[in-house]
Amino acid sequence: MGRPERVYPSKKTIPVLIDEESVRAAERQIDSCEACAPDQAEIPFDYVLDSMTGCEPEITDYVLEKPAKCPRCSGEVLTGYWRWYDSETEGRKAFISPSTLVKLKRE
Ligand SMILES: [Zn+2]
Repeated sequence: MGRPERVYPSKKTIPVLIDEESVRAAERQIDSCEACAPDQAEIPFDYVLDSMTGCEPEITDYVLEKPAKCPRCSGEVLTGYWRWYDSETEGRKAFISPSTLVKLKRE
């Protein structure tokens, strides 16, 4: 029945709490988001958190203490996550909700 899954994490994801101060620090790196700059936003917000925390993106679930907002349009910037679910017709599947894409400020 098809190829074996290339990525089949048996390890559980680890929730990592991002405190408000870190959320604000992440926001300060954002110039705009996919809602207000769809042509320029190409960095997943998770990447910003990964680089701040040093966490492994594949096993990390970020939990924000406060919602992150885009500094330009005030739209909410979401972290990505995925969950397993069981489908009667297709078996076990991963549901992936990608994080909001952002444009970072240039240093
Ligand atoms: Zn925005």
